[in-house]
Amino acid sequence: MGINESGNILHNVATGQRKPRVIVIGTGLSGICMGVRLMSAGYDDLVLLEQADRCGGTWHYNQYPGLRCDVPSHYYQYSFEPSAEWSQRFCGGAEIREYFEGVARKYHVFERIRFNTQVKHAEWTGSEWVVDLEQGGSSEQLRCDILISSCGILVRPKYPDIPGLDTFAGKTIHTARWDHSVDLTGKRAAIIGCGSTGVQMVEPLSKVCSKVISFQRTPQWVLPIPNRKYPELGKRLARRFPIISKTYYVTFRFAMEQMMGRGIIRDGWSRKMVGKICKWNLESVKDEVLRAKLTPNYTAMCKRLVMSSDYYPALQKPNVELVTETIDHVEPRGIVTKDGKLHELDVIALATGYHANEYMLPMTMTGENGVTLDDVWKDGPRGYRTVALPDFPNFFMVMGPHSPVGNFSLTSIAETQSTYIMRFVNLWAERKFETVRPREDATERFNAEMLANMKSTVWTTGCKSWYLDEKGVPGSWPWTATKFRNDLQDPRLQEYEIA
Ligand code: NAP
Repeated sequence: MGINESGNILHNVATGQRKPRVIVIGTGLSGICMGVRLMSAGYDDLVLLEQADRCGGTWHYNQYPGLRCDVPSHYYQYSFEPSAEWSQRFCGGAEIREYFEGVARKYHVFERIRFNTQVKHAEWTGSEWVVDLEQGGSSEQLRCDILISSCGILVRPKYPDIPGLDTFAGKTIHTARWDHSVDLTGKRAAIIGCGSTGVQMVEPLSKVCSKVISFQRTPQWVLPIPNRKYPELGKRLARRFPIISKTYYVTFRFAMEQMMGRGIIRDGWSRKMVGKICKWNLESVKDEVLRAKLTPNYTAMCKRLVMSSDYYPALQKPNVELVTETIDHVEPRGIVTKDGKLHELDVIALATGYHANEYMLPMTMTGENGVTLDDVWKDGPRGYRTVALPDFPNFFMVMGPHSPVGNFSLTSIAETQSTYIMRFVNLWAERKFETVRPREDATERFNAEMLANMKSTVWTTGCKSWYLDEKGVPGSWPWTATKFRNDLQDPRLQEYEIA
């Protein structure tokens, strides 16, 4: 691959090769990564479909106060596009979104994005994919040789089923659809939920609101992550020597994979160490009653580990209250808890998470022999090694089912998967096949191995989380990140049906 000094992509499609028509659905960090891979290889017969009016995926949709990424920015960047400009160790959402859009522009992916475009249905005709879309009220069909879904995981906001929520006279906002027209100054605000999102909001809201009430159903273990700003001198050096940014990348990757990655998949020193740090962090809460309310009764990392250094200090501010009494209902004046107390409010922020694991739903898909996505996912999403589905030829997924999404950098995962997918795109270009799809038996074997390994993961140690499906089975990658990279290093072609 290459980009010349004027920023133009140097195409390297060899003579005699054909260029596939490729459609990528979604332009979050996975879709952009896939787009860069394709453009860099010269496959520019490419369309990216995006339902929003901007790219960035979760970093576009999430704009709540306090939003930042709890993965160090140097490890959240693409390894092929190190940045010297990160303002701090854990950057805010807007800065991260700008980074991804900048990469999309640099690699000419941006101008191939069709914004405000909703994919309704994709159908395999036997030789190509036909994609039905809707844009500005009109319908259209596109055709392609290779279809790639990069629709993300935590996309559709989950609204809680609390009686009377729609009767609230103030403003109700889901954190994934923040309404910037609401002025929070001097307001009484509730935050329902204390996952990674709810926790991030307490401190910034405490600075502007007259009162903040955090409604906690289940306490979380919280790992402290002191943030620090990067000085201008450091940035200047990093601009001059890109190796600095790359070194940060590998250092943070090593630290996160050793500490969280290992701790998640089996009991051992790293799981114990994370638990101890979280307990030590909790000790910083001086009030015993408050500390007791904040103490979880499950192992750290069973739920997605919350990382914050300002949550506990903010909870101890005079204008912040933690309510652990169950919410009974909402009435026009505020939230009423089971003990009959009315908490009067102006704003209710719903930090209640997402319908996780819906992947490309609600769009529908029909693969070979009329098999639909609803058919194959009737017992929950499953796939072949996170990237493909039997019965769906020439179809690939970035961040598909079972991707290692817990406390990892998703950019690193997207890079591994998109590189893997590119091997098939190249084979198609070299006329090595017309259609390819994973074998059913190989997919079943992979899923059985995965289930067997789930038992030793921390997710099954006795808590509820979005990692678990309705039957309580986790859907995330139950092995190390190294195994993930190794397994997706080279396609095992014997596990595919190639025509
Ligand atoms: P979440 O982890 O699913 O947490 C949802 C919260 O809402 C939980 O505390 C849950 O309580 C509570 N809740 C849900 N329904 C409720 C109800 N009816 N009544 C009371 N409480 C209710 O969602 P999230 O905080 O948005 O985070 C989702 C994921 O997004 C994270 O796990 C993480 O992967 C990602 N994220 C990442 C970052 C980052 O910095 N990288 C930042 C934000 C989010 P229970 O625990 O009792 O169910």
